[in-house]
Amino acid sequence: MIIELPRNYTRTSKGRYARVRSDGILEIKGYGDFYKIMSDITYVLKGRKVCQYCRREVSPSKMTIDHLYPREFGGVSITNNLGPACANCNREKASLNEAEYRVMRTLSCKAEKDRFYKKRIAEKNRRKYSQHIKPGFDIPLEWIDYWSVKKIKTPRDSSERRKSKNYHKARSFIRKNNYKIPKPVVVSKNGVLLEGKSIYLAARDEKLLSIPVIVLENVVVLDN
Ligand SMILES: [Zn+2]
Repeated sequence: MIIELPRNYTRTSKGRYARVRSDGILEIKGYGDFYKIMSDITYVLKGRKVCQYCRREVSPSKMTIDHLYPREFGGVSITNNLGPACANCNREKASLNEAEYRVMRTLSCKAEKDRFYKKRIAEKNRRKYSQHIKPGFDIPLEWIDYWSVKKIKTPRDSSERRKSKNYHKARSFIRKNNYKIPKPVVVSKNGVLLEGKSIYLAARDEKLLSIPVIVLENVVVLDN
């Protein structure tokens, strides 16, 4: 998929950089923190002053980043899926997607909102944990490709990550749910893993052959 990028953007730190080239490609050198790059670019694109839901002004230091499609149900950290939200709206939205939250905001009383929230989450959980619905994410299916695990390039040796909580969570999700993946991983056009390292490792260790990936056609990662 093509992610939204500004015409001009450069961020450098300690020999690493991310910049938008004149041909519109985001070039990343050094693997750094992809989430930071994406949230930084999101603020450049969408501003950092006004909450996208309540339209209230917030001081930039208090602005938070919202995942339009929530992380819990497959929402990844790419500019198309991020936006500025005040802490109150972000907290209230929780694991709803943008469209669901906009409906919830039209409901007047708290009880009605709670009922709506619970119903939506139950439905999404049903899909997430269903043996029959694959992949069961709450994101547009056209974002997703399936790639052979072998085709994905990882930045570094990942032995440390195998001790992490996220790695163990991902592995147990895969085992318990008939080899489903809890979340798609994100890769650059040239196949370098940008988000989902624990999930990728868990899938590899569980000997899965292919996994759902979101391929960013306008992002390349240069070798270190
Ligand atoms: Zn707000």
